[in-house]
Amino acid sequence: MERVKGVRDFLPKDMILRESIFSTLKRVFESFGFDPLETPAIETWELLSAKGGLGEEAVKDIFRLRDKAGRELGLRFDLTVPLARVVASNPQLPKPFKRYQISRVWRYEEIRKGRYREFWQADIDTIGVRSMRADAEILAVVVKCLEELGFDDFYIKLNNRKVLDGLTEDLSIARRSRFAVFRAIDKLEKLGAERVKEELEKLIEKQAVEGVFKFITLKGSNEEMLARAEQMLRSEVGKQGVRELEELLSIAGIYGIEGRLRIDFSLARGLDYYTGPIFEAVIGGAERLGSVAGGGRYDKLVEIYGGPPTPATGISFGVERLAELLRERVELRATKTKLFVASATEEVRQDVLRLAQKLRKDGLAVETDLMGRKLRKQLEYADSAGIPYVVIVGREELGRGVVRLRDMRKRVEKEVEVERIPLSID
Ligand code: AMP
Repeated sequence: MERVKGVRDFLPKDMILRESIFSTLKRVFESFGFDPLETPAIETWELLSAKGGLGEEAVKDIFRLRDKAGRELGLRFDLTVPLARVVASNPQLPKPFKRYQISRVWRYEEIRKGRYREFWQADIDTIGVRSMRADAEILAVVVKCLEELGFDDFYIKLNNRKVLDGLTEDLSIARRSRFAVFRAIDKLEKLGAERVKEELEKLIEKQAVEGVFKFITLKGSNEEMLARAEQMLRSEVGKQGVRELEELLSIAGIYGIEGRLRIDFSLARGLDYYTGPIFEAVIGGAERLGSVAGGGRYDKLVEIYGGPPTPATGISFGVERLAELLRERVELRATKTKLFVASATEEVRQDVLRLAQKLRKDGLAVETDLMGRKLRKQLEYADSAGIPYVVIVGREELGRGVVRLRDMRKRVEKEVEVERIPLSID
C-alpha cells in the first residue's frame, strides 16, 4: 500500500538518530530554563487563518479538515500559533513564560530534499519580555544546540522586520504590498537578483525596486552594516530596528556568540507575524538545504488571539534538516541494544534469562534469543542487528563463574567473570 505524499516512516536506525537529536536539544533547552509544552495537532480554522497570523501564502499550505459536525479545522502549520493561543487563554502564566515544544507540523508544500509535508520542529519561545535580552538568549541557545550536535561551521543570519518596515516606509511602498515585498526579498539567495527584481516590479515602482535592492544587498561587517543602515533609513521605525539590532549584538557579545551572527538585510522570513528581530541559522557548506532553524520576534500574535498585549520571541529548529546533515557525519547505530546474551547449548537457556535480568538491573540494554536458535544463528542475528557485544553462556564456564564476551565489531573474544561483564563493555 502506498504512503501519503510527503510523509515518511522512520525505521529504528533513523529513529535512534532522531531521538539523540531530540535529547540533545531538550538538554540544552532545559539548561537555559525552558520547560516542555504540548498542544493538539488540530486547531480551529479560525485560529490558523487569523489575520496578522501566518499570512495569506502560508494559510494556503494548511491541511484543512472538516469534522462530522461541520466544524472547520486544520492541522497546525507551526508551533508558534498554538503557543500564542495557549498564552492568550492562560494569562495567569508567570512571565517570562519560557517553553519548548518538539512536535510534528504539517504543510502542503512542494516536496524536495529537506522539505516534507509532515515534519518535526523543535521550538523554543520566551513570552513576556520586550527587551532584546530574550532574543539574545534565544540565539545563545541556538549556538549551544548546534555546537552540542557537533556542527562547527554554522552562522545565524540576522535582520529586523522594523528595518524592513522602515525601508518600505521611506520608499512610500503601500502598506498592503509590504508583506509581498518581504516575501520576494526573502527569495534573493534562492532565485537570484534578476528573478527577485522581476517579482518586485510586479508589486512596486521601478524606482522603489532600485531602493530596495541597494539596501538589501549591502555587505560588510555587522558594525558597518548597521552604520550604513542608520544613515540610509529615515523613518523612526527603521531607526528603532537598527537600535534593536545594536542592542542584540551587544548582549550577544556577552554570551560570546557575536562571531556567529551575520546581519543580512535580505533576510525577511515568510510568515506574517514577525514584528522585530528575525533570525535564520545556516550550516556552512549546506546552504542549499535551506536554514536549519528560523524564527524571530512576534509582539502582536498573543493579542490577535484575544490575549493582553504580550511581547514574544522564539525560534524553531527543523529536525529533518539536522537529521539529514548528521546522517552523513555520524556513524548510525542500528539498535540501542548493547548486549546479546547467547546460550551455547539448550541446557543453559534458563541461566541466560537469569543473567540477562541481572544485567538489565545493572542498567544495560540486553536481548536474548526468542527463536530457539543454535549458537551460530544467534551470533549471526546479533551481528545483523548491529548489537555490539555478545555474552556466550556455556555450562562449563558458568560453573567457574565466567562467560565468553565477544566484541562483535573487533571480532575478538575473551573470558570474563560474570560480575565484571558491565565493566568490560564500553
Ligand atoms: P519556519 O516555521 O518556516 O520558520 O521553519 C522553521 C524551520 O523548519 C526551518 O528552518 C526549516 O529547517 C524547517 N522547515 C520548514 N519547512 C519545512 C518542510 N516543509 N520540511 C522540513 N523542514 C521544514
